[in-house]
Amino acid sequence: MITESDLDGFRTLLSRAKLYVLVTHVNPDGDAIGSQVGLGRYLASRGFEVRIVNQDVTPPDLGFLEFDGPVGEGYDPARHDGLLDAADAIVLVDNSAPDRLGRMEAPVRARAPKTFCIDHHPTRGTPWAANIIDTSASATAVIVHELLRAGEWTPDRAAADALYAGLATDTGFFRFNSTSPRAFRVAAELLEAGADPTRCFRELYERNTPAYTRLLGRALADLSLGAEGAVASVGITLAMIEACGATGVDTSEFTTPLLAVDGVRVAILFRELSGGKVKVSLRSKGELDVQQMASEFGGGGHRNASGIVMSGTFDDVVAKVTARAVALAQDAR
Ligand code: 5GP
Ligand code: MN
Repeated sequence: MITESDLDGFRTLLSRAKLYVLVTHVNPDGDAIGSQVGLGRYLASRGFEVRIVNQDVTPPDLGFLEFDGPVGEGYDPARHDGLLDAADAIVLVDNSAPDRLGRMEAPVRARAPKTFCIDHHPTRGTPWAANIIDTSASATAVIVHELLRAGEWTPDRAAADALYAGLATDTGFFRFNSTSPRAFRVAAELLEAGADPTRCFRELYERNTPAYTRLLGRALADLSLGAEGAVASVGITLAMIEACGATGVDTSEFTTPLLAVDGVRVAILFRELSGGKVKVSLRSKGELDVQQMASEFGGGGHRNASGIVMSGTFDDVVAKVTARAVALAQDAR
């Protein structure tokens, strides 16, 4: 729940700023952009100036969220450091960990005394001026909505769509175990404010390219299973991406069909990045905790959804992480 001290923190934020810069984590997802757009529209409606600056450009499936100004044009020090200086406040949403700011870590850290954080990820301490962190919230969008509701603001239709998209994507459309009565209450209020669930789903999940489906098929065809079928993994190499013409394809949902295999409790997606790095996405069911395992390799996240970016050859990363996941699944039996 939002606490009195959260509200105090938010009031302080509002009293301080004319120009806000909203930032989020690398590879922004629906909750990151949805929370930025929802909060941004609120601040703009109060007459403040708002800019959204993220390390990475917004993925195309989130392009339907409407904001009056560029959303996630991609951080460029030459263009944005002056803006970060001019900002009265920086608001970091859906992320509290400095290292998940990527190339924006140093510039935002340098301005930590004017940075406010709104997040639902567990944290081990942050350098920010104020933190509104509620790990029981299904999504950052929930916290944003509740803060704004406390300020007696009803989201306009576009803000409602943005916050709904954030909540829906972070809960897997209300099926992950992070789904709660509170999530449905917020969803109901967003629908009352004009959010359109059909449109949000269509924009988010029914606009894939043929290349996406080809890459998915290619990855799934080489499914590996371990721990007697409890651990399922697939890999995507740069060569596969090129062969499918799938550069820039968002593969974050590729773990969904892995979890759908009967008996699977941990799903792993390995994606080769340029520069000798590999992105590992971990998903699990029930009590099985992949966050602990991710943190052992320098990553993090939630119990049932975590990620890591590791250095090393593709095969080495696959071998190391798979072995750890197999041990985890066997221990948990
Ligand atoms: P995904 O696999 O979708 O990229 O990430 C799942 C979750 O894991 C994210 O919501 C985020 O909380 C976390 N996560 C992903 N990548 C990283 C990472 O490199 N470092 C940390 N600390 N957390 C990550
Ligand atoms: Mn989130």
